[in-house]
Amino acid sequence: MVFKTNIYKKSPAVIQNLFLTGRGAIYNLLRQGRTFNKVYSELESTEYLDSPRIRELQNRRLNLLLQHAYENVPYYNRLFNRLGILPSDIETIEDLGKLPFLTKEDVRRNPKDFLTRDAKKFLLKKSFTNGTSGKPLRLHRDLYSINFENASWWRQRRWGGVNFSDRIAVLREEEIVPFDIKSPPFWRYSVFEKKIFLSGYHLCEENIRYYVKAIEEFKPRAIEAEPSSLYILSSFIKKMGISLHLTSLKAIFTSSEVLLDKHRELIGRVFTVPIYDFYGNAERVTAIGTCEKGSYHVFPEYGIAEFLPLKDTAGKMEIVGTNLHNYAMPLVRYRTGDMAEFSEKDCRCRRRSQVIKKIHGRIADFLISQDGRFIYADACYMILRGVKDLVASQIIQEAMDRIRIKFVPGENFSEEGEKRLVDNVKTYMGSGVDVVLEEDSSLLSNREAKYRPFVSHVSRRFDI
Ligand SMILES: [Zn+2]
Repeated sequence: MVFKTNIYKKSPAVIQNLFLTGRGAIYNLLRQGRTFNKVYSELESTEYLDSPRIRELQNRRLNLLLQHAYENVPYYNRLFNRLGILPSDIETIEDLGKLPFLTKEDVRRNPKDFLTRDAKKFLLKKSFTNGTSGKPLRLHRDLYSINFENASWWRQRRWGGVNFSDRIAVLREEEIVPFDIKSPPFWRYSVFEKKIFLSGYHLCEENIRYYVKAIEEFKPRAIEAEPSSLYILSSFIKKMGISLHLTSLKAIFTSSEVLLDKHRELIGRVFTVPIYDFYGNAERVTAIGTCEKGSYHVFPEYGIAEFLPLKDTAGKMEIVGTNLHNYAMPLVRYRTGDMAEFSEKDCRCRRRSQVIKKIHGRIADFLISQDGRFIYADACYMILRGVKDLVASQIIQEAMDRIRIKFVPGENFSEEGEKRLVDNVKTYMGSGVDVVLEEDSSLLSNREAKYRPFVSHVSRRFDI
């Protein structure tokens, strides 16, 4: 990534704008060319298919993918041989049960085993994500799948009334503006993409008016952001009583993290436009996004989603995905480790793809009380309730009766805050739970900690 290079970091803002514009031009070339246009128009034509035709389309693409995997991907060749079946034995999605689930650890152990033999034919992009054990997982994607993903995003943007020529403000935790810059501008521009990139790292009370002014002057049609960054911006705007002048704004698109109810509520109240959320995963096996009626839909052309019931989770299921387009590294029945609640209802938008009631985030991101209750995302934050001036924190359940809270105290954090943390844990999780408090300034630069405010090392025992 360009902004991680020293030359970018040391350049003045005007040169950084050129870098980002150059990056945007390359993106447009690779992700918005002929392949993109083809996929995008296909996605437009399949948007309102009825359920049988969605199934038919998925079955056809699944057959092609499995045939390719059997012939070219060592892991799948061995797997089919071991099971004594051929790809043709899996005619429909219902037959997928003949194949075992795939876990992060399976892939992490030997990622090359999942790479197609003719990988050189594809233009590949490498990426990394964290495995369940915290060790990195190496993933490969081909150009077609990158285009497919991009086309899926654009289709959802269209649902929000945003088109290719519209301006978009992006607020993400990328180091677009180096940390050590202390004065505005805390944003950079990418000219061809028509985007302003706002730093997610310079959001503090004294800078907020600069951010608001920059966004207002840019006149974006949409804002794209990680929920937590936009939530921080919204909190300051509300706290400081700033009234926004953003008549151009039509929609907000969130992704990369779970959009909590409190995020949705505050962001909606401050910006007064609909919020479209997108759920994806680094392995690119499933994509789920909200429509203009606010329901989460599985994007059925993108991948096949299965929902695996887990014990003791009150209807929450694990999302299992099979990507249908990444021929460079096919992953079939991949357990994402993320949880969702399935809905039987059809959506009023007339799209007949599966509707998801709610996305809950990772299985490992839940805490379990001493009496065995699962404590989910929003409720986990109860532990931080009433604690003043905590800059960052990560709550780790090491055992059923031990919680470690790593934290970075602000100037006004006091012993009373420490006491409150301990009391809250005992109230919500059980009076016999030991609480270990540990100051850890590395949280501020640790991306993993930001995405995983709650970590459980005991949830595995409650797995299927
Ligand atoms: Zn809908």
